[in-house]
Amino acid sequence: MHLVTRQCVRFFQFSALNGFPGLTHAVGCRLDGTSKPPYDSMNLSQGVGDNTDSLVANRNRWLQATGGGVHVYTRQNHGTTIRIIKRDSFDAFEKIQTGSESADALISDVPQVRLSILTADCQAVMLFDPEKRVVANVHCGWRGSVANILGRVVSRMTREFHCNPHRIIAAIAPSLGPCCAEFIDYKSEIPRYLWPFRVGSNHFDFWRISQHQLVEAGLLEGRVYNSGICTRCNPHLFFSYRAERETGRFVSFIALC
Ligand SMILES: [Zn+2]
Repeated sequence: MHLVTRQCVRFFQFSALNGFPGLTHAVGCRLDGTSKPPYDSMNLSQGVGDNTDSLVANRNRWLQATGGGVHVYTRQNHGTTIRIIKRDSFDAFEKIQTGSESADALISDVPQVRLSILTADCQAVMLFDPEKRVVANVHCGWRGSVANILGRVVSRMTREFHCNPHRIIAAIAPSLGPCCAEFIDYKSEIPRYLWPFRVGSNHFDFWRISQHQLVEAGLLEGRVYNSGICTRCNPHLFFSYRAERETGRFVSFIALC
């Protein structure tokens, strides 16, 4: 990932996703917003207790810095609901759709629809099929890993849009690394089949779990990119729920353009 600055707002991009014409994406960080501590400063979530004025100002700032289109958010709840946005069913009535509908993954083939996932330690995993021109963005915390939400999304991309998993490119945004993913109660929380991804006595490598689940779903290993940046180790750049508990959420989005 490399740093980009536009309209005084800093964010990151994956070089691997930059080479495709007609594709845009961004991984936000916590810098350059207006929210006061503990949401300082570019909080983009309305569900964490930040005040509305700061949130609206941040959303507008983000919109201006990253360009037009419709920014689609969902109510993320660590489930496995996937929202599909197709050309014939999409009604772009607002620039920012905050979404009352619960979903932890978005898939679309509609240009200018920015699939946005908010995180603070969980993974946002962005997917792209360059041939069918389909994008997806997945909110994947440990519950999502246990439920293999990534495998479910790849299978929906295949079923609904005839994507070939071999062509799909994936990028894992900054999230909790194996250094900080400590699960003291892992024997009751994490199913046994994920125990091979345990590091030391009770840490887990959820990056490797995601890579494994994507490859199991048919992606080629060389097309799964990981930022390798741990949010908890970098609280100056990213929001981290584990580091701060009461904190904001940063956004990652992917879109066709
Ligand atoms: Zn860490």
